[in-house]
Formats: sequence, structure tokens, C-alpha cells
Amino acid sequence: LQREEPTHFGAGPAQLPTEVLQQSAKDLINFNNLGLGIGEISHRSKDATKVIDDAKAHLKELMNIPDTHEVFFMQGGGTTGFSSIASNLSAAYLGKTGKVGTAGYLVTGSWSQKSLEEAKRLRVPTEVIFNSKDYNNGKYGSIPPESEWAGKVKDGQFSYVYLCENETVHGVEWPRLPECVTSNPDIELVADLSSDILSREIPVSQYGLIIAGAQKNIGLAGLTLYIIKKSILEDIKKASEEEIHKAGLPITPIAFDFPTVVKNNSAYNTIPIFTLHVMDLVFQHLLKKGGVKAQQFENEKKADILYTSLDQFPNFYNMPVDKSCRSKMNVVFTLKKEGLDEKFLKEAAELNLTGLKGHRSVGGFRASIYNALSVESVQKLANFVREFAEKNA
Ligand code: PLP
Repeated sequence: LQREEPTHFGAGPAQLPTEVLQQSAKDLINFNNLGLGIGEISHRSKDATKVIDDAKAHLKELMNIPDTHEVFFMQGGGTTGFSSIASNLSAAYLGKTGKVGTAGYLVTGSWSQKSLEEAKRLRVPTEVIFNSKDYNNGKYGSIPPESEWAGKVKDGQFSYVYLCENETVHGVEWPRLPECVTSNPDIELVADLSSDILSREIPVSQYGLIIAGAQKNIGLAGLTLYIIKKSILEDIKKASEEEIHKAGLPITPIAFDFPTVVKNNSAYNTIPIFTLHVMDLVFQHLLKKGGVKAQQFENEKKADILYTSLDQFPNFYNMPVDKSCRSKMNVVFTLKKEGLDEKFLKEAAELNLTGLKGHRSVGGFRASIYNALSVESVQKLANFVREFAEKNA
């Protein structure tokens, strides 16, 4: 089971470490010498429970997750997370205060916008604390200074404040968490880390809830990771279905009810155990590599190599994202000269550099340089970027 090291820059599902896939392939056929594949055993068996417990333990070690927080896994993806956040967190606020709160959204790109729309669709009261488009000529690509919007956070009665830590489509990443949110003990910070989880060290204790779909840095599509403050689980339990209904808030479907899933160790219903095992192998791979700190060092190097190459040709490459919030995972750029896009993609593909086309909603190019992509692969792309500009400028 061999392959050449891929140089695929797709935004997701993303390339995974070859060593992880080799082990997964073996375990799909015969796991732990059971004579059965991992997808063929009961999700309540001893072997499956060990996979769940191991994945949790390895993640706790990697992210230094404090005892105040719980880890669980649910089927679905980031989008399922959008819905489950809105219903679970609004119930938590009701349980804690007896009141209906407002969910505050910090919109910096299309994924936070989608999450906001889902909360609205579920009839959860929402407020857009800011939409970064309003500060940047109608385009995503910046994060307004906190001084411009911190007052709204201070004055609101927020059930939670939501942000997407890395906007995969627009290449905008929060450089640090907003202090006006993290310093307020009455506000729960909810963050979507689908495309940058485990790419850098983060202070888990400052989040009420972290969600991350698996298919970028941590595995295959189909499973979502949740890290939640335990007190939020208790608050959700305090609100009865009758009270939630009376308050006009959405009732969470049972398979996505956070306390129910946690109580059943992520196996209330059939958990895709193979998918979770792949995730755990990614965690183990990262631990062997030196943990998140080592990965962060490598990711910073990769981003630096690529951005430096693009920045060298300011008359040729257009960089739409403000330097202060450039993503270290999704590098977005366009060509200033018209008519060269197809040529760029074709010549890149001839060098086996694939997955570079920008999202259909924004065009141009996007190089996703997730954890599994090596420094050498990014260097190959950076060399191509330089040579292409020199030849075509
Ligand atoms: N959030 C972010 C940051 C994403 O990048 C994506 C998908 O790319 C999603 C959410 C949606 O994930 P899914 O397709 O698993 O629902």
C-alpha cells in the first residue's frame, strides 16, 4: 500500500498522512487481529469503546484540554454543528437564566454567515455584532478592530457569541481571540475550528464550545468533534422541553442533543467507528511528531514560504486578505492579468500541484496547506508561483 507523497492543495476533504491511511486500510480489513474489520464490529463492543476512549484521551493530551471541558463526537459535519449549536446553546441560556438570549455572530466570511443563517432559520434570536464586509468595501478579507464593536458585546444579553476561527473560502483567520468576549465571564464563546483545529496551540479554557468537522486536519468526512464546557451541559439539562417549546426555541433532535450524546460516551446511536479510528490515528501521528507546538512551527514555516513567494510579485498576484488576518491554512490569491487562470492551473497540474482552484463563489486560487501537507510540497508550489510570475508578468 504505497503512493507517492501527494501535493494536493484542495480545501477539503483534504490529504491525510499516508502512514495513517496505510494503518486505516489494514484495520478496515482486520482490526486488532479480530478477523473482522473495524467497521464490522458493534459500536458498543469493548474494542469500539476503546477507540472512543483513546481518541478522547489523545485529543485531551494534544490540546491540553482542562477538566472543565468534555470531548464528544457526533455524526454529520460542520453544517450539522451550525444547527446543533443554535438549539443546544439557546436551551443552555434558557436553563441558566430562565430567559431567551440573543446569539451574537461575528461574521468574517461565508461559513460564519451560513451558521448565522441556520440559527435564524431555527428561529433563534440573533444579532450580527459585525459583518466584516461592512468594513471592507462589501468584501470579506479583514477583521474590524475590536474597539469598533466591543461596545455591542458589552451591552448585549448574549446566549453565546459565535465566530469561525478560520474562514476556509475567504482565507481569513482570527489571529487571536477577541478579548471583549473572552474577558466577559457571562458570555460563552462558540467557535468553528473545522479548518484550523490542531494547526496551532489554543487556550481551550476560554471557549464555551469548539466544533470541528473532521475532513481537513483530523480525518475523513462524516464525524464532527465537539469540546464543550461541562457547565453548559448542565445548563442544557435544566431547561425542560416544555419550557424550550414555550419560549419559542427549537427542540434539538435527540441524536444531536449534547447531554444525551455525552451521557452515552458518543455512542447514543451508531457512531462511525472507522471514521473515529482514522481521527485517532491522526492524533497519534501528531503526538509522535511532537504535538501541536511542532505542527504550528511547521505550519508557520509553510505559510511564510508561500506568502513570501506571492508577495514578491505585487503587480502580478492580488492578495485580497489583510495581512493581519491572513489564514495559515487557506492561502487565497488571484491573478491581476486576465486570461491566465487556466494556464496557471494547467501548468501547476503538469507538476502534479493540484486542487488549487478557488471556491466557486470567489474564483481565483486557493492553496490549502493543512497539517498533512509537507514543507517540501509547499516549497514546490512556492517555486511554481515564482516561476509562473517571472515568465508571464
Ligand atoms: N465550517 C468551515 C470552517 C468549513 O470549512 C466547512 C466546510 O468546508 C464547514 C463548516 C461545513 O462543513 P460540512 O461540509 O462538513 O458541513
